[in-house]
Amino acid sequence: MKKIIVIAGDGVGPEVTKSAVTVLKKIDEKFKIGLEFETRYAGGSAYDKFGEPLPAETLEACKNADAVLFGAVGGKKWDNLEVKFRPEQALFGLRKGLGLFANLRPVKVYEALIDGSPLKPELVSGCDLLIVRELVGGIYFGDRCESEIYNGVECAWDMENYSVPEVERITKLAFDTAKIRRGKLTSVDKANVLSTSRLWRRVVNDVAKNYPEVELNHLYVDNCAMQLAVNPKQFDVIVTSNMFGDILSDEASVIGGSIGLMPSASIGELTSFYEPIHGSAPDIAGKNIANPMGTILSAAMLLRYSLQAEDAAKTIEAAIDKTLADGYRTADIYKDGFKKIGTEEATEIICERL
Ligand code: NAD
Repeated sequence: MKKIIVIAGDGVGPEVTKSAVTVLKKIDEKFKIGLEFETRYAGGSAYDKFGEPLPAETLEACKNADAVLFGAVGGKKWDNLEVKFRPEQALFGLRKGLGLFANLRPVKVYEALIDGSPLKPELVSGCDLLIVRELVGGIYFGDRCESEIYNGVECAWDMENYSVPEVERITKLAFDTAKIRRGKLTSVDKANVLSTSRLWRRVVNDVAKNYPEVELNHLYVDNCAMQLAVNPKQFDVIVTSNMFGDILSDEASVIGGSIGLMPSASIGELTSFYEPIHGSAPDIAGKNIANPMGTILSAAMLLRYSLQAEDAAKTIEAAIDKTLADGYRTADIYKDGFKKIGTEEATEIICERL
């Protein structure tokens, strides 16, 4: 059996994870993967129930699972708590506790939604790229100084540090991912200026020797930011450091046109973690109008990356394509002339197309 821990979280989290579990159960009937689900708590709902946002038992259960499916956490109710009790602490605790070293963010433009993209249709038609971001190193985790006097003036600094094993680990993952996609990898750095980037580039070139079937190129981060806006279709897999990945993945996420549709995976040393990129959307929670597709597509990533069930993952992705092509739209992507559906109806329609 393959054990999946389901953490619904707060706001729309319970609605969208319920949809994704329904889809996974249906796909399991078809592909006989042997999925079993266990519920755990994290975020504001865990604080209300257990007095802490990440109970030790939740983390332990995640460590022993084949994968974790997560909704979202947070909401006004918990905004004024002491920092250690706030819902987002659960996310930090899970990232650290599970050693989630890589964040994978696919950006796919659906033909049926092409008008929703801020870029011209001819630029984004067929765009399907994946950003692999290093998640536990670099400048976000380096030494820092909030304030010091240097040469008589106040300064602050943050240190960027990458080791060879850290870069090797993320690079191998990116090459392995490119291998099961279209076989193209772009490594993004700032090697014309930064020492860490020069080490990054050297290690990427060394790792590349083991992947002759993958075509590798390098781009400076400023050029990559421009290329994402002028020719995003040139990319298959992009691998980059923590800070560059943070910025580029947010830039790339708008290409698709709707936050409700975007999945993500965080790959860990102990287990991996799958969640939509959106937050708990308290403004629409409990109204059966949230778009569950981002979470359902995260479940497809879970099948692909944690369970190596590529056919099952593709079947889910095709069912979402078909649902959109058939004219069904949740409120966030609705336009006149289409069929408006709620969260539960969307789930049923996707299940019918599996
Ligand atoms: P958000 O992503 O929750 O919402 C932004 C906008 O997108 C809202 O208008 C919302 O209604 C809409 N939206 C989000 N998901 C949607 C969906 N599935 N279908 C349709 N519309 C959707 O971001 P926010 O409003 O900045 O944050 C709300 C709360 O979520 C905050 O407490 C924040 O801290 C938390 N948050 C959590 C995570 C996480 O758990 N990973 C990530 C981001 C924000």
